[in-house]
Amino acid sequence: VTIKLHSLKTLAAITLDHYEVELLTNTGLLADITPGVKSGAQGVGLYRTEIPFMVGDSFPSEDEQVRVYRRVFEAYEGKPVYMRTLDIGGDKQLPYFPIRHEDNPALGWRGIRFTLDNIQLLMTQVRAMLRASSGMKSLHILLPMVTSSHELTQFSIVLKDAYTQLQADGLSMHWPKVGIMIEVPAAVSQIPLWANRLDFISIGSNDLSQYLLALDRNNPHVADRYDHVHPAVIHEVYRTVQLAKQYQLPLSLCGEMASDPIAVVLLMGMGIQRLSMSAAKLPRIKWLIRNIEVQWAQQILADCLLLDDVDDIRCHIQQAMKDKG
Ligand code: PEP
Ligand code: MG
Repeated sequence: VTIKLHSLKTLAAITLDHYEVELLTNTGLLADITPGVKSGAQGVGLYRTEIPFMVGDSFPSEDEQVRVYRRVFEAYEGKPVYMRTLDIGGDKQLPYFPIRHEDNPALGWRGIRFTLDNIQLLMTQVRAMLRASSGMKSLHILLPMVTSSHELTQFSIVLKDAYTQLQADGLSMHWPKVGIMIEVPAAVSQIPLWANRLDFISIGSNDLSQYLLALDRNNPHVADRYDHVHPAVIHEVYRTVQLAKQYQLPLSLCGEMASDPIAVVLLMGMGIQRLSMSAAKLPRIKWLIRNIEVQWAQQILADCLLLDDVDDIRCHIQQAMKDKG
């Protein structure tokens, strides 16, 4: 099977009834670059910048960030790279910048809330992204934990400032594409209101599930209750996919759902366009996509939307996959 999966590298992720999906990779480590490129990923769907920030004992300088980011852009040779602004707080801490104790860190100072309160940090990072991708059209800036319009407004001021400064220095850049993670449930309903301010959206199914279910999957007392194919999650992801289509917003999904075959069947039924996952899991998901029909997945989705139990959903899909062979 390994050999067979490997041979898929140059083949498209296309279903038996000719629906093509773009498969991208999640990364953050320079060590992931080679496996990512080798897996045949069509770009980086989620570059977690908190990872390069975690090595070292202080915030990386702008020049240091430029060097790291540039290697990613160069490795992917003009393919899209969705670079997320620093997403720390909650369960992600920097050793040299511990965030003081919070009673509810998941609901606290994290993602864009943190970076907008540390604007110089955000400015440095955005400048580094623009510099690292200069001359290329690959930069997609992805904002984590967006909850309110105000955050979009504040970010666009930072981006404009950074761009203007670098332009004045003579740097030649393309204006980047800007989008947000759909991971705070509040973001879903605001897609219609934000559609004309965004170039794309990306579903962060890990946090979206955590917040919809009010379940921390890292808490051993409740972790076994967490499941991203919970009916509430499926219905909300489906609503997001439909809103994205209605408002013509390019959409991807970059949480763990993207590499869970059971969930991917449902996502294919929804008509998802783009999935991003770790390089190691990409070949298997591509193999799955190449061996199903969207029409088949649509029927399974329709069945599952009527089920109210997560185990029944998993069983139903597993059985359908077994029947298919
Ligand atoms: C997510 O929340 O689904 C996601 C991809 O972001 P992270 O796992 O880095 O929080
Ligand atoms: Mg997240």
